[in-house]
Amino acid sequence: MMNSKNSQDIPLDHPRYESLKLRVKVVDAYKAGILADSGLIAHGRGEAFDYLLGEETSPVAKKAIETAAAILLLAEHPVISVNGNTAALVPSEVVDLARVLDAKIEINLFYRTPDRVRAVEEVLKDAGAREVLGTEENPEHIRGLESPRSRASREGVYKADVVLVPLEDGDRAEALISNGKKVVTIDLNPLSRTAKTATVTIVDNLVRAIPYLTREVEKLRRMDKSTLQDIARNFDNQQNLQDSLKLMLGSFSG
Ligand code: ATP
Repeated sequence: MMNSKNSQDIPLDHPRYESLKLRVKVVDAYKAGILADSGLIAHGRGEAFDYLLGEETSPVAKKAIETAAAILLLAEHPVISVNGNTAALVPSEVVDLARVLDAKIEINLFYRTPDRVRAVEEVLKDAGAREVLGTEENPEHIRGLESPRSRASREGVYKADVVLVPLEDGDRAEALISNGKKVVTIDLNPLSRTAKTATVTIVDNLVRAIPYLTREVEKLRRMDKSTLQDIARNFDNQQNLQDSLKLMLGSFSG
């Protein structure tokens, strides 16, 4: 087993180059205090599902991404909720997406400590975010969740009609939905509670899905509202999850 201290140590022609590069990123983020130890475990679970997907954005995921773009463009107050894994892997991609959507960025951490909040805020600001919510002393709260996960910034998740929550846990996704919000999630596990609960689930690695989503938003932004509404109406999340699962199961037969 190769012992990679940084991504330069991974040979470019290594068959698992992209995957190993992401591992280096999450380990570095853990060492820098951005990611909690359990974030490394969540990443490993994601890797296993991505392996079954062939580490590619499938046509099924592309359909979910198109729908997500339509729903986010129709939103009055779109918010991107950022956790440690997202900050570790795609900070500048999140900032780009927020810019094209005119969306707020809000930090929400499962294992919240003041140091980790500061570290995530710094990563996002270094990536170009002008405003980062979720750091305030006295936030609002989402009903049905224990603190600190219930934290919701007044101008962010609390007010949002659509929340993009990459890598969410099932409880928060359910609480956001029962508080009347639409939830778009990115989760490689089509069987997770989050995947089943969300309005739209993109079964893909967030490192591929977020830039793809940004391009899709740029493509669809010229379309009129009724076309976007048609795209949103014609999407069946449960069917899309079944289709992703079928793709994964197909990988077992060669
Ligand atoms: P739930 O509570 O929704 O049933 P869970 O208990 O699996 O989900 P977590 O333990 O928070 O939730 O796991 C995080 C999820 O994120 C896992 O399903 C994992 O497959 C997924 N995941 C990890 N890394 C990525 C990634 N880079 N892109 C997309 N999804 C990922």
